[in-house]
Amino acid sequence: MHLKKKLSSGHVILLGSLILLCSFTFLKSSFENIILKADPLSTQRDTLIKPGNDFWNYANGGWFRKNPIPPSESSNGIYLTVGDSINHILHIICDDCAANPGAKGTVKQKIGDFYASAMDTISREKEGIKSLDKELKVIENMKSTRDILSECAHLHTLGCPTLFTFYISRDDKMSSKYAAFVQQGGIGLPDRDYYLNNDARTVKIRTAYFEHMINMFKLSGDDDAKARTEANSVLALETDLASISRKMEDLRDPYKNYNKLPIEKFNNLTPTINWKEMFTLMGLPKVDTVITGQPEFLSGMDKSLRDPDNNWKPYFKWQLLDRFAEFMGKEFELEDFHFNHTVMTGSKIQRPRWKRMVDLTESMLGEIVGQEYVAHYVPADAKERLTTMGKNILAVYAEHLKSLDWMSDDTKKKALHKLDGVTMKMGYPDKWRDHSALIINRTSLAGNIMNIGSWHYQYMIARYGKPVDRAEWVMTPETYNAYYEPTNNEIVIPACNLIVPGFGMGQPDDATLYGVVGGSTMGHEITHGFDDEGSQYDEKGNLNNWWTSSDSSKFNERSRKLAEQFNKYTVLDSMHIRGYACLGENIADLGGVIMGYEAFKKTDQWKKQIKINGLTPDQRYFLAYAYSWMQQKRNESLAKQIMSDVHAPAQFRVNGPLSNITAFYTAFNVKPGDKMYREVKDRVKIW
Ligand SMILES: [Zn+2]
Repeated sequence: MHLKKKLSSGHVILLGSLILLCSFTFLKSSFENIILKADPLSTQRDTLIKPGNDFWNYANGGWFRKNPIPPSESSNGIYLTVGDSINHILHIICDDCAANPGAKGTVKQKIGDFYASAMDTISREKEGIKSLDKELKVIENMKSTRDILSECAHLHTLGCPTLFTFYISRDDKMSSKYAAFVQQGGIGLPDRDYYLNNDARTVKIRTAYFEHMINMFKLSGDDDAKARTEANSVLALETDLASISRKMEDLRDPYKNYNKLPIEKFNNLTPTINWKEMFTLMGLPKVDTVITGQPEFLSGMDKSLRDPDNNWKPYFKWQLLDRFAEFMGKEFELEDFHFNHTVMTGSKIQRPRWKRMVDLTESMLGEIVGQEYVAHYVPADAKERLTTMGKNILAVYAEHLKSLDWMSDDTKKKALHKLDGVTMKMGYPDKWRDHSALIINRTSLAGNIMNIGSWHYQYMIARYGKPVDRAEWVMTPETYNAYYEPTNNEIVIPACNLIVPGFGMGQPDDATLYGVVGGSTMGHEITHGFDDEGSQYDEKGNLNNWWTSSDSSKFNERSRKLAEQFNKYTVLDSMHIRGYACLGENIADLGGVIMGYEAFKKTDQWKKQIKINGLTPDQRYFLAYAYSWMQQKRNESLAKQIMSDVHAPAQFRVNGPLSNITAFYTAFNVKPGDKMYREVKDRVKIW
């Protein structure tokens, strides 16, 4: 799945911009220059900054100066504004459902009871770690490798994956069928590099992680000496798993991460694990073929399982404590906050409880909450409006593809065929998943979380052997994000993208509409179908090469140039962007901003060169694109992004692509000597 941005725990959405929208006043002073009141594009700039030196800061710097990052947050900007606004709506939904839950089993009952259990701190304190008693006892009694594997399987079924990652998804080379995937996993920190790098920043985080584990083991009832020994065991085991895991960059080659094996051969990778038995324990006795991305990880993991020095009990106990810490009482919650928020992302204090619990309700019951959100807050014509925009962008894309000067007619024909096959899912799903088997009550938050984990697991494994559900969504309508799924050749744009300033409600500025929704969202997602990974899948979503070899080399050469450009950007002291890890996203940004621009050029506003608040259409378009990336992060959060995310920080998602677009140079008079300036021959053009 290729996202516009990485999903964070607090999924974002907007109505704040709806408020912004309402405050737009469209005053027509003359045909050539329209005056808009409360226009973020003209008023949020920092005009002391030269656009050609740092366009992201020029476009948004005025807003950044007035809006420092709040102590409870790791970032500030458009995503937080949108997030707060959607959180406000979801709060109304949660409160209403908690007060009037209605009949058992209904959407309202599930939302209401979950939210009530989340807000009930008295019951939570009383229950404490008791909710894990049963599981902890099983772990304490583990004696053999068989016991370890049996508990590992069981934790997977609770939505607490240990040792490896397992899922059922579409087979990359036969996208009409579901397949079982076993991939690298099993570590507690966000990426393998946290265990292996030895720079000061990473060592500090690793030390804090070690202390965090000690504190958590102590909270679970162990004395200091035992807690320390346990933390040592976990760190040693996770470091073993990290050392056999692939780097982010190496996970991006779909062919190198595709090994389909009959179960007998798959067993050979792991002499200790009989996968037929393991899958039976995991509820899937019929699996006969497995796809793994990283066979060397499985062999290495098996070696760890055979090592008599390894103590697996603390590792399994840690998996549970880490997964459920937030739900076991104040002390656990604060310890979890300290490490996962203060240390990892820099936020200083917790958000108010209701805000966190609304977010939790959304992240646990997203599609259920989505049904209420769509019923009461999404305009009736949302799908239609998004679809019209998507069709415009697709049409422009096709024209643009035909005119590419570096691609042969043969490959162009195939690319157009693939573009033609793009499915657009707009707004919200046509049918919702059936959640009737999911039991939610008011008595235990941790119990609800476990029920939800196992419901999702059962839903996932029930798909095995059934026809692929191409109508499925894996993002909720209230999520301010979007994705492209290569195995389905589809773009998915949730409804709340509508509420970006500039779309609907009479807002007249097409530049904002095309910069934010057209370029940075739809154009971006469509381009994922043609990035270094997505372009290896065909129109049906199968991993299947459709390129001539000469066009493929030209594409790779252009991509390499883009990766090298990003490698040179320094984010934080010595931390630079990992150009090859972020390549797919950067190709998608570059393609997206160009397609949004081409589509904008078809509007009256552009054709008649109507200025708004003294800004030309081109200036407004690029400012709007930068506005869609108005986000400032704390250093801790930036460092985490570099270490574990394939998306570059916002500043570079603006300055990077724009430094390659000649129309931007003209719009802002960018000249040699300006920091963003590149010679014409050095500008990268892919799509
Ligand atoms: Zn993306």
